[in-house]
Amino acid sequence: MVKDLKHVKFPMKMYRLKTFKEIKSIEGLDEKHLFDVIGRVIEIHCPEEKLINGKNSRLIDFTLEDPDGIQLMCTLWDEHVSKIEAFYNSTSQEPMLVLVQFCRARVCLKSGDVKICSSYDVTQLLFNQESPPFEEFRKRTSHEQTPMRSIISQSSFKECSSYSVALSGDIEVRTISEIYRDKDVFGDFWVAARIVFIDDPDWYYASCRTKGCNKKLKLKGKWLWCSTCDRNWGDGTLRYRVKVRVVDLDGNAPFLLWDRECLDLIGISADDLKDTHTKGRKGLPKELETLIGLNLLFRIAVRKEQFQNYLNAFSVMRIITDEKIVEKHAPELIQVRDRDLSPKLELELTDEDLWDIEEYC
Ligand SMILES: [Zn+2]
Repeated sequence: MVKDLKHVKFPMKMYRLKTFKEIKSIEGLDEKHLFDVIGRVIEIHCPEEKLINGKNSRLIDFTLEDPDGIQLMCTLWDEHVSKIEAFYNSTSQEPMLVLVQFCRARVCLKSGDVKICSSYDVTQLLFNQESPPFEEFRKRTSHEQTPMRSIISQSSFKECSSYSVALSGDIEVRTISEIYRDKDVFGDFWVAARIVFIDDPDWYYASCRTKGCNKKLKLKGKWLWCSTCDRNWGDGTLRYRVKVRVVDLDGNAPFLLWDRECLDLIGISADDLKDTHTKGRKGLPKELETLIGLNLLFRIAVRKEQFQNYLNAFSVMRIITDEKIVEKHAPELIQVRDRDLSPKLELELTDEDLWDIEEYC
């Protein structure tokens, strides 16, 4: 016989979740206290090895975001590294929700920020489950999301965030020809380049309207269908996906700009632009032409696919638009005129591309 137990002291909740806000308020922080956290993974750093107290330790850093956009850095140690390492360089899991059970807070000595880390052998990681805390989290997550990225950079033990790495000047910038030369080197790299034209007339896609999904919708009969939610929509939320051709001093490549970066650069949403745009060449909105001529630092994902077909664009994971920073890393690029860059466009180009270049020069 099974009876309901209704004693007040009997715990009815599976997890002891703390909000990011609670964790980040240093007040009353007890580094020995174990608690649970749920968040969306937006960044995974490359795993690293460190000599700590004469013992070789492994660690991996990743960043969680809550529905309010608050971010929290996490570090997993040793046997816990493999739990998240599998997702490094894989972006197919979006949105990737994780519940970290039995973690503890630590104050980062360099930044003074609170982060969380694994605790000996008790910490557990649960991914994309259907249980109440996950359902609740999904409900609270909005449309606009930071896309997930993998980062090859120093862990929190050198710098406290990858963004500060970018701004502190020790980012390593590679040229386009270096990227194409090292055909077996994959990862995320910085490239300084200029956008010279829009490479593809398709500049947006319809995405799922379910909160937090954003999956590209497929046409199925007269409906648009989301394969993640298995749901039909009459229309989707438009998101940017703009393929541009970029050049630097010794090469050129197709880059793919996603919604967040285009929003940054263009200033209005894809939905609004579709409604209000003035027609430019090839039916493209004239507003997109503001991208042409921009010198930017691009963080691009270099994968096998780009070497298999040179028309496969490199996904842009992040951009730096600050002119001073771009100039610092690519002074020659800023100074050179377009007409001195264009003779170097020697790739297999379509007639349309050539027409574009001619027009542009
Ligand atoms: Zn969906």
